[in-house]
Formats: sequence, structure tokens, C-alpha cells
Amino acid sequence: MVRSWHLEVEHLDVAGYEQVVRGRHTATGLDAVIAVHSTVLGPSLGGTRFHRYGSFDEALTDVLRLAEGMTSKAAVAGLDQGGGKAVILGDPAVQRTDELILAYGRFVDSLGGAYLTAEDVGTTQADMDLIRSVTPFVTGVSESLGGSGDPSPATAVGLAHALEAVAAHRFGAPSLEGRHVAVSGVGKVGSALVAHLASRGARVTVADVDDARVADMVRSHGVGTASPAAIHAVECDVFSPCALGGVLNASTIPELRCAVVCGSANNQLLEDADGNRLAAAGVLYVPDYVVNAGGIINIAEEWGGYDHGRAAARIAAIGTTTTAVLRLAEADGTTPVEAADRIAQRRIAAALADRRDD
Ligand code: NAD
Repeated sequence: MVRSWHLEVEHLDVAGYEQVVRGRHTATGLDAVIAVHSTVLGPSLGGTRFHRYGSFDEALTDVLRLAEGMTSKAAVAGLDQGGGKAVILGDPAVQRTDELILAYGRFVDSLGGAYLTAEDVGTTQADMDLIRSVTPFVTGVSESLGGSGDPSPATAVGLAHALEAVAAHRFGAPSLEGRHVAVSGVGKVGSALVAHLASRGARVTVADVDDARVADMVRSHGVGTASPAAIHAVECDVFSPCALGGVLNASTIPELRCAVVCGSANNQLLEDADGNRLAAAGVLYVPDYVVNAGGIINIAEEWGGYDHGRAAARIAAIGTTTTAVLRLAEADGTTPVEAADRIAQRRIAAALADRRDD
């Protein structure tokens, strides 16, 4: 338990954000920032990243960018949630204690529900369970606590629906049978995706920096392999980045030999211009935040009382959303990146207009 409870709270004034708050707790060493980008569609929802940043400014830049991205992700997914995100500064392997996590939970609680937290890089489901003991404003807790558990299988299912939609759009049929998919990163999401693709008769090539994970995929599904540095350049129908962000950039895009890029990794484009580079290269890129929303859809369902059937239906709708984005891009003569942003902005503008009318 936290013995001494005195949270130092500093409100940072950041244009375009509803609230950006830094919370520090001397007794536990907690130094965290919660960024609430928008609550126009509902309480902001986004994970807590526990990471050793080079500086406070670096952490602030990360949390602001991630929170804004969550607004678009929730809006396009049709969720009644806004966008928020949090970071805890520090190395979780060294600094994580139950006391620090509880202090952080109280910090989340102090925002009164404007921000709902969840697991992200560096935090675990056990952390969310602990946070639940001090605030209701947390999702992704264990099933034994009425939660929805690990969101990764839901993310993989949503990605599979997106892949079928994009196959229908690009190749004329949703079937992945006989299609060659190159998957970079076979962790929680990538490995579940590979299992799905193999069961649908797709030809799969995988890469991972963890050789044991690659060996497991070869053993379980008879997939082909490539090196992590070359997987993006494999000749295939679909390249599916399921590892790190920034994989689509000025040096990798000219090397792509796929028709489609569709994967779970967050922030796949290194910079905005990469969306246009992909279009110029004739590669159909479906924005990451559209296709990887299965996990957030699943945990958002938890907030209203988790119902597996309802969550599954909403996750399946990622296929319909993907088709809508691709059609709008074609109709407007723009990229899917721009089309998805337009869909998000229109939904938020409509909600604001409704509010004004009320
Ligand atoms: P994970 O950590 O379980 O898996 C990532 C895998 O990528 C690991 O096996 C790792 O060894 C591998 N990897 C790391 N660097 C690599 C490289 N350079 N080349 C190839 N492989 C590399 O993570 P995850 O939960 O499967 O998430 C994968 C991606 O999807 C991440 O970008 C994550 O942010 C994003 N995402 C995940 C979820 C979710 O529900 N888990 C939801 C939305 C987005």
C-alpha cells in the first residue's frame, strides 16, 4: 500500500488537448503524464506506456502523439470513446513496484473518468488488476475481475477481417487462399495472425528477431522464413508489419514488392509523407489504426459490462470500416491515410454539432 499519499500535480497547457497533466509522487518515484486529447465522443481511452525516455520532452512528445492517434482510432472504429494516453517515465524492469503502480492508479482516478487507462508497452495485465483496486477507470483487467483479458487475440481477429476486406478490394475476392502474406514480427498478434492465415490456406513467410518464435511458426504452420532486415522486400501479395513502428519510410518503401501493406504495428509510417510515397509506389496501405483497432474495441466493451458476442460483432466490423476507408479514398482521389483521417474528423465534427444543437 502507498503509505504516504501526496501527488504533485502539474497542469500543462498544450494547444489542441483538453488536459495534459503531469503527476509526481516522491515516495514511490512515480513520474507520469496523462494526455487527454479529446472526450467529444466519450471518455478518453488509451494505454499506459512505461518507458525509459531520454528526457521529459521526449516523453511528452510521445504521449501527445499517441493520445491524438487514439482519438482517430476510436472515432474510425465507431466507438463512443475519446482519445487519451499516458506514460510513466522510467525503466519498468528497475522502477516498477506495486506501490508505484498504485500511486499511478490514484493519479488516473484523480481525473474523475476523463481518462480510462489500459495496458501498453511496459505495463501488464497484472498492473491493470492492481490499478483496479484504487480506481474503476481502468480496462483490460483479468477475466476473473470481470475484464476481457489480453486484447491481442482480438487485435489479430480484427486484422484478419481487415485483410479479407482489403483482398476483396485489391484482388477482387476476400479469400486469402493461395495469397502470399509476409508477416514481420510473430509475437502475440503476429503469431495469432499466422495461425489464422495458415488455416485459410494462405502462403506465409515470417520474420522475427526472436529465432525461437520463428522456429515455433515453422513447426506449427510450415511457414517460410526471411531475415528481419529483408522481410519487407519479400515478393508477396501482402506485407503485414506486426513488430515495430516506422517500418515504412523513404528507404524501405522503394524496396517493397507487395501489392498491399496491412499489419498491426502502431505508427508504421515514419513520417506523414510516407503515405504519399506508398501511393506513388502503387502499394495499397491501409492505415494501422484502422486495422489494429480490435484490441481497443474489445476493452472499450469492457467499460459498459463485457459481452463477448457484442465485442466480436464490433471487431468483425473492422472489415466494413476498412472497405469504407478504401472506397472513400478512391472516391475522393486521395490516400487511405487521408480518407481515414477524414472519417474520424467528420464523426467528431458531427458529435460537436449535435452538442451545440442540444
Ligand atoms: P509483441 O511484443 O508480442 O510482439 C512483437 C514481436 O516483434 C516480437 O516477437 C518481437 O521479437 C518482434 N520484433 C521486434 N523487433 C523486430 C524486428 N526488427 N523485426 C521483426 N520482428 C521484430 O507485440 P504484439 O502485442 O504482438 O504487438 C505487435 C505490434 O502491434 C506492436 O507494434 C503493437 O504496438 C501493435 N498493436 C498491438 C495490439 C495488441 O492488442 N497487442 C493492439 C494494437 C497494436
